[in-house]
Amino acid sequence: MSDQDGKKPLGLGGGARSGTVKQSFARGRTNNVVVETKRKRVAVPKPAAQSAAVVNAQGGKKSGTTDAEMDRRLKALQMAKAREAEDAERRAREEKEREDERARRRAEIENKEREERERAELARQRAEEDERRQRETREGKTAPIEPAAAPTADKPDRQRNLGPDARPGRNDGPRKRDDDSGKPRGGERRGGKLTVNQALAGGEGGRQRSLASMRRKQERQRRGGPSTPQEKVTRTVKLPETIVVSELANRMTERVAAVVKALMQNGMMVTQNQVIDADTAELIIEEFGHKVQRVSEADVEQVIDVVEDKAEDLVERAPVITIMGHVDHGKTSLLDAIRKTKVVSGEAGGITQHIGAYQVEAGGKTLSFLDTPGHAAFTSMRARGAQVTDIVVLVVAADDAVMPQTIEAINHAKAAGVPMIIAINKMDVAGADSNRVRTELLQHEVIVEEMSGDVQDVEVSAHTGKGLDKLLEAIALQAEILELKANPKRAAQGAVIEAQLDVGRGPVATVLVQNGTLRRGDIFVVGEQWGKVRALVNDQGARVNEAGPSVPVEVLGLNGTPEAGDVLNVVETEAQAREIAEYREQAAKDKRAAAGAATTLDQMMAKAKEDQGVSELPILVKADVQGSAEAIVQAMEKIGNEEVRVRILHSGVGAITESDITLAEASDAPVIGFNVRANAPARAAANQKGVEIRYYSVIYDLVDDIKQAASGLLSAEIKETFIGYAEIREVFKVTGVGQVAGCLVTEGIARRSAGVRLLRDNVVIHEGTLKTLKRFKDEVKEVQSGQECGMAFERYEDIRVGDVIEIFTREEVERTLA
Ligand code: GDP
Repeated sequence: MSDQDGKKPLGLGGGARSGTVKQSFARGRTNNVVVETKRKRVAVPKPAAQSAAVVNAQGGKKSGTTDAEMDRRLKALQMAKAREAEDAERRAREEKEREDERARRRAEIENKEREERERAELARQRAEEDERRQRETREGKTAPIEPAAAPTADKPDRQRNLGPDARPGRNDGPRKRDDDSGKPRGGERRGGKLTVNQALAGGEGGRQRSLASMRRKQERQRRGGPSTPQEKVTRTVKLPETIVVSELANRMTERVAAVVKALMQNGMMVTQNQVIDADTAELIIEEFGHKVQRVSEADVEQVIDVVEDKAEDLVERAPVITIMGHVDHGKTSLLDAIRKTKVVSGEAGGITQHIGAYQVEAGGKTLSFLDTPGHAAFTSMRARGAQVTDIVVLVVAADDAVMPQTIEAINHAKAAGVPMIIAINKMDVAGADSNRVRTELLQHEVIVEEMSGDVQDVEVSAHTGKGLDKLLEAIALQAEILELKANPKRAAQGAVIEAQLDVGRGPVATVLVQNGTLRRGDIFVVGEQWGKVRALVNDQGARVNEAGPSVPVEVLGLNGTPEAGDVLNVVETEAQAREIAEYREQAAKDKRAAAGAATTLDQMMAKAKEDQGVSELPILVKADVQGSAEAIVQAMEKIGNEEVRVRILHSGVGAITESDITLAEASDAPVIGFNVRANAPARAAANQKGVEIRYYSVIYDLVDDIKQAASGLLSAEIKETFIGYAEIREVFKVTGVGQVAGCLVTEGIARRSAGVRLLRDNVVIHEGTLKTLKRFKDEVKEVQSGQECGMAFERYEDIRVGDVIEIFTREEVERTLA
């Protein structure tokens, strides 16, 4: 149409005419411009309906034109209009066609999806069928489940995929792949695969979507009946807040590889050693068809029996007594005196074993004494939540008076709400004045019976034994008032009184059973340690099979050394015990880390305030028993003035290890070994890193040294130098000499004149001098490293194969500590 119009008029601005102008605006205008600019004058108002451009164009042509021309133009206009209408119609038609097309495509896709669903369902059914068949055959012979099930499910599916999928052609690629991956588990992993792509492409967003889609899918499956193709044992999987992949597999009793694979299909690229969160783990657990039981970390402790005892199960138990008092007021003497006369079933002259507690019998009643005098043990136990003591016997020397530690003991007992009995000791001494003690106690709100109060007081003498019976009676009476009861029928619960790493026996803990009965073979958790009772040794040193309430026993079979005050609980399984111990260890670590951070901050603040004047003496303490370590820590904490403070970096029981050295090195601290030694790697590390190790066997010496160091008053001292180590290979008896050790000098030299120490598992057993040093038959002065020799100790016989002899010299040197 436009072509026609354009041709006819030619010449005079013909190109400008007609609908072409309107339709292809630019072209029309160009033509007009060339031909008709001069005449552009008359404005024709007629074609008002048209756009301005058209008006202009027409106006241009109209000027000086004939009617015929006008007609033609009108006609052209009409035609233009007509074409416009036509155009609109065509557009609508096209639009409709497109709409139809879209609808058709939608229907097509829907169809395809439906087909796919059906196909997946069919595949699943087939897989199930195969699985069933296999199981049937397996009844007789065992056949691998998964590898066999997967391919059988695979085949029909792939064949099916080829059919319908080939037809629609669009969106096939990804879908087909999805289906493939979904096959083994009946399309269940399809979403997972998609998620992998998403995760790879879209990072976090992808993962989020994947989790959501997984949930939806699972929801669908839950509603839609059986979701797991393989019928297997459904387990309830305990799921903590985080879990290591391998552990997750373990708890589900699934193969680790299968779990890792499942995780990958859910968009989690992890290895078996990685930790995943509970949400993710839950999806996997459900995917494997198990049940989830969410547990909080602290829930692991819940297995510990917390059932209330029934009244009829409760029986009377012996009271547990701690003796407290000022130093030198006679605590130890009193304990010894009581023990000597009254040890339960003590054979004549029978040697009692020091296990940290013992039982005595008085007036038909059994009393359990904690053989750990001192307030440190009492408080540290209480601090750990083990309220062991029922009665405190406060010893006050009649020839002395109420002293600082007496007051401290009173406060401890009061704080713990434990009743006290006052033992006014040393009544045999000439200047003894029991009444002065009583009046002085009044000032501290301890009103004894003599002063018409309710605190029992007994005059005793540890030396003569006077009043001991009365004291025990008083204790028994107090115990009666307390009506102490326990249930021996339940699983045991106890408190660690002392623990140490014993030579040959491993970690040993003296436990006071508080409730229940502890038996051999019981599985327990104690503090951060756990174990299985291998043997129980009572205070007589005899092996027993069980220990009831208030009975102290040594427990063997721990996996590590617990701390005094740790609570022991018997649990059902080793897994539980281990889990609780691990949880506690982690919790303690976290706490220490948090505390460490706080200290650092505190220190920074303190330092900022107090300027550089204050310096700190950091030390690391290792001791042979928990009690010593605690005593040292307490003593150290008391040292210090405005200028210097002692900071205990770490204190523990056992040999000094490499990790101790590392820790010490980090803070430039010396390592204090109290009756323990550094093992070989630790010694090497200390030498290499320049960490000072100092050994002590008397707390007083240690405190003194630290005090001196702290106040900068280091003078010349006697310093020990280690010159050699020898290992005992053989022990034999030589008449006239006694036990002789056949040794190999492993390090340095052995010197006859030097001091020697006997170490067993890096713990000092004996310190003394050598009686003989022999090489072959001859007495020699020195034996070099790598050579064999015979050694015998002066007045010491208990030597064993495997013990190590430490050879050292003493010399006076400048103090180097601090
Ligand atoms: P602890 O520090 O409280 O354990 O006191 P000890 O038991 O070590 O006794 C300190 C000192 O007092 C030792 O020399 C004992 O021999 C002495 N001692 C303890 N009890 C008596 C007593 O009843 N009479 C006399 N005369 N001396 C005593």
